[in-house]
Amino acid sequence: MNTPVETRTTCPYCGVGCGIIATVDAAGDVTIRGDEEHPANYGRLCSKGSALGETLGLDDRLLYPEINGGRVQWDEALDRTAAAIRAAIERHGSDAVAFYVSGQLLTEDYYVANKLMKGFIGCANIDSNSRLCMSSAVAGYRRALGADTVPCDYADLEQAELVLLIGSNTAWCHPVVFQRIAAARRANPAMRVVVIDPRKTPTCDIADLYLPVNPGTDVILFNGLLHYLWQQDAIDQDFIDGHTRGWSAAIRVAQDSAPSLAVVAQSCGVSETVLAELYRMFASTPLVISLFSQGVNQSCAGTDKVNAIINCHLASGRIGKPGCGPFSITGQPNAMGGRETGALANQLAAHMDLENPRHRDLVRRFWKAPVMAERPGRMALDLFRAVHKGDIKVLWIMATNPVVSLPDADYVRDALKCCDTVIVSDCTRRTDTNNLAHILLPALTWGEKDGSVTNSERRISRQRPFLPAPGEAKPDWWIICEVAKRLGFNQGFNFQSAAQIFREHALLSGYENHGERDFDISPLAHAGDGDYHAMQPQQWPLGKDANGGGVRPFSGGRFYFADGKARFAALDFVAPCNGVTEDYPYILNSGRVRDHWHTLTRTGKSPRLSRHRNEPYAEIHPSDAARLNIRDGQLVRVQSRWGSTVARSAISTLQKENCIFMPLHWNGEFSSAGHVNSVVNPVADPLSGQPESKHTPVRIRPMATAWEGFLLTRSDSCIPWSGYWSRDRCDEHWHYHIAGSEVPGDWSAWARELLSATGVDGNWLEYLDTGTGQYRAARLAGGRLESCLFVAPERRLLPDIAWLQGLFNNDRLEKSERTHLLAGRCADSAGDQGAVVCSCFVVRQNTIINSIIQNNIIDVKEVGRLLGAGTNCGSCIPELRELLQNTTLNN
Ligand code: SF4
Repeated sequence: MNTPVETRTTCPYCGVGCGIIATVDAAGDVTIRGDEEHPANYGRLCSKGSALGETLGLDDRLLYPEINGGRVQWDEALDRTAAAIRAAIERHGSDAVAFYVSGQLLTEDYYVANKLMKGFIGCANIDSNSRLCMSSAVAGYRRALGADTVPCDYADLEQAELVLLIGSNTAWCHPVVFQRIAAARRANPAMRVVVIDPRKTPTCDIADLYLPVNPGTDVILFNGLLHYLWQQDAIDQDFIDGHTRGWSAAIRVAQDSAPSLAVVAQSCGVSETVLAELYRMFASTPLVISLFSQGVNQSCAGTDKVNAIINCHLASGRIGKPGCGPFSITGQPNAMGGRETGALANQLAAHMDLENPRHRDLVRRFWKAPVMAERPGRMALDLFRAVHKGDIKVLWIMATNPVVSLPDADYVRDALKCCDTVIVSDCTRRTDTNNLAHILLPALTWGEKDGSVTNSERRISRQRPFLPAPGEAKPDWWIICEVAKRLGFNQGFNFQSAAQIFREHALLSGYENHGERDFDISPLAHAGDGDYHAMQPQQWPLGKDANGGGVRPFSGGRFYFADGKARFAALDFVAPCNGVTEDYPYILNSGRVRDHWHTLTRTGKSPRLSRHRNEPYAEIHPSDAARLNIRDGQLVRVQSRWGSTVARSAISTLQKENCIFMPLHWNGEFSSAGHVNSVVNPVADPLSGQPESKHTPVRIRPMATAWEGFLLTRSDSCIPWSGYWSRDRCDEHWHYHIAGSEVPGDWSAWARELLSATGVDGNWLEYLDTGTGQYRAARLAGGRLESCLFVAPERRLLPDIAWLQGLFNNDRLEKSERTHLLAGRCADSAGDQGAVVCSCFVVRQNTIINSIIQNNIIDVKEVGRLLGAGTNCGSCIPELRELLQNTTLNN
């Protein structure tokens, strides 16, 4: 018998970069567990990481090259790709070609894509979807520190005495970092956590202080803090004098824009008391980490917000020391690798500056590049505008789904329709973007790919393959190099392995560096293939400090400007670009849910992850809901000047009044109209180019429906229903929410047409009550339940689906099951158990509430002991605590 094989690799989701051990047994089954030795997570995984094993199936994989929907040989697909690029350059110049790449690419993929575009095509039209996630942090660090150097480590969070979580739902978006902070707080009772966010998210579970600030007011909040530090004599004048420039202008503007606590409190929409408490905590605590993410970065003033935070750390000398610093945490697994390889339109490579002639010359000589880009290329929003205008004739999209993820998404869809040639390299066959591609190139995905990624704390880890390459899928770096060779660039792209590319990338980082540039991993350039294969997680700057720890950036107080001094930024408050109006009086904020990732192409494969939130929703404050006559659970239409979307209302006091939150994940493969980026405004920060995804003026209305229902079906073909639908994958079947504005004249004919897409014939069981307007149907084939469909004038008249869902696990229905089928439940089936809270053990909300009441439970550990909930990955603990609190209060 073959023994199971263990492979150490890295999680493909968020920027925490957790180490994973994947074990493949003799039958080929894969189990996943956290790597106890990886310094990012020490064995922990969140719900998404834990469920990775469920996402490895080959259904809906892109396995063969295609041109215009037909399968072709690799040679033909690569020849056509190269021919399209060559023709566009010859006819229209190199600006007519663009690459839109992704934080899902490995560093080696990024390196060759950037090299091809900037050194060989000779244009900088390559931008990454990381533009949407952290480019404001890049711009802020470069403006203040002279380089894109994240100054903190995760271990700093454990040494800090005060952690500010700013615009970050860390509990859901970076769960393992959240768990590390929560554990540190338990271990150190003196440690304090402050959450600054318009939305009261599960992250507040560990907050000692919560500031529900008005959206877009971070600059004034931190200008106020800078002013307060100065007033209280809590600045570090020696540090300011010795290591910075620009203090006088920065403090003058801070005084003008934030003259008093009262002014700041009013602008930010918080009480003077909590504001004063935050300022007092910062001023009196030596070890402060300010951790921020998309709530800060995704803004038309994102760079200013980042610099407002950094200003406070520079003024107090809280940078370059353990337990201190402004800490940007990235959303994507390899956003940092993209930064290191320069795969943003305004960067060069190895943290060099595209606008610096010396850097351009250095890279040109190193690459032996025939034609170097001389100026920045187009950043994401601008790039797709150029596609729409027809200026870009060939667009190559790699490992991302911009028709779903970019703001004003319907415009992006139109742009792709206008483009002469759209090439997509991806692992998934059907996405909203791939559906518009002329050429599809099948790429390897996580578990198959070989290369490296860098996490938010500058730690480079290996992603190692543990599965065979399926079909004809190839590594992204191979695809890019093959196209480059067909363009005549054999010499620069004759790589045989990821290891060889990594060595060149490492060598470039040290080339003529002499300690002038922050990013230097050149000692790794000498790693042989075996060393590369076995490479342990490496944090840069490489090496050890005098105490045997890692080298800490800025520990000597020297920054990466020519004079070695950091820069304060003098920051006027800039209001968000599009203010609310009478027509669009609410502010839409978009973000992630706990168990899903980006556009559902991976997490949407896991039934376990799909249970926590299985439908697009809009979170609304109760006062707004009352004013708008919206009931909880009702379908609503959210509309902006750019488009509209439909979602289920979720009325919640956690939401600030006049603000709405919607998740970003749903798209055309999973819902008819739940696509939030159709609504989001396409404005961006002028310095970073990062779009404003947290502040779109919208209106919201209840949606009139004549009926609602659900469909459970084994078929994975999307139903051809022009009304409302959204779907999620369950064990052995799909679950659809459906609704319509008109009652069909003949329910039976309507149902047959709807289910014709499933392609399965069988026996129909039907029930129609014209009095109550309820229709129910089930279709069986060979005694097995294939589909069932329930509709009613109101959602509350529908049965709970749990019992029906269980029937899909049976190969044949029992007589009693057939008898009760159209009732939707048997005599002893449990009632509605509500949404899944614990994904690991599938424990539902009402089960938890009932157990809390029956067993007089008062703490989360007891819930875990009785139900298992919260005892595996721990991602649901904030929700368990909230349920516990609410249930105890109500009883
Ligand atoms: Fe993956 Fe979760 Fe770790 Fe992020 S926190 S890297 S999603 S396991």
